[in-house]
Amino acid sequence: MNKQMPIIIAACGDVHGRMHQMQEHLLQMEHCTGLNIDLVLQVGDFQPIRNEQDLASLKVPSKYRSMGDFPDFYQGASRFNWPIWFIGGNHEPVDLLDQHPEGAELVANCHYLGRVGQLQWQGLAIAGLSGIYQEETSRSSRAGSEKIVKEPHARTLTFSNQDIDRLISLPRPDILLLHDWPAGLACPDQQGRFSSRGCDISRTVVELLEPQLVLCGHQHYPYQTGITTASGRSCQICCLDQVDPARPGCVALFRYTVGAGFERLDRYTGAGISA
Ligand SMILES: [Zn+2]
Repeated sequence: MNKQMPIIIAACGDVHGRMHQMQEHLLQMEHCTGLNIDLVLQVGDFQPIRNEQDLASLKVPSKYRSMGDFPDFYQGASRFNWPIWFIGGNHEPVDLLDQHPEGAELVANCHYLGRVGQLQWQGLAIAGLSGIYQEETSRSSRAGSEKIVKEPHARTLTFSNQDIDRLISLPRPDILLLHDWPAGLACPDQQGRFSSRGCDISRTVVELLEPQLVLCGHQHYPYQTGITTASGRSCQICCLDQVDPARPGCVALFRYTVGAGFERLDRYTGAGISA
């Protein structure tokens, strides 16, 4: 493809193993816009669980414990229609992902970006950080321990200081994938109150890397906003809902044009914000 051609990018929120529903949403988006998606970027809690052994390292409350759709793709009964790149969220088959810390294509068209990864796609620079901040893990394990299935291998995927050092040493990306939101977004909750969601480290990383577009999930709440970094660069932040048939904010569509940057194409930006 000519580098000057626009690139159509779909962003997708937490999948939690519902790959068929994710593909339905993406097909619907192509149908509604008449555009062909070039690339899908996913922001973690993808849950590519191949078998019982992978499931054993997934740390989730028991009611969410299931294989999901990935075996259909792994066994070849289904295929991913577009090239998809995902980062790890906090709920993942950690043993599987940790076999590929630098990332890997797990099945055709489905790529894990790694603990800290970068990708060049037709001139676009994409970077990603897998997992969540560690202290949050220690707090949540105290709060909800009785609801967690006692799987000896189950772990939460977290990032380390070393991962952050690696990430911020990368060249400035055009798109940054994070699982949790950057802290400090002025996001109203369903009652219209401003809530303090997000992670301070995610915010610091955004301020240092200054990507044009940040995609994130984790909070299962759709929201689109922008911030201006200390050096005066503007950065779009797209927070995605979790994949569910009734949640249109689980996917977003962007057109990237060299020189013009990213334009959001779908009208759904969630949380009472009109496009
Ligand atoms: Zn999630």
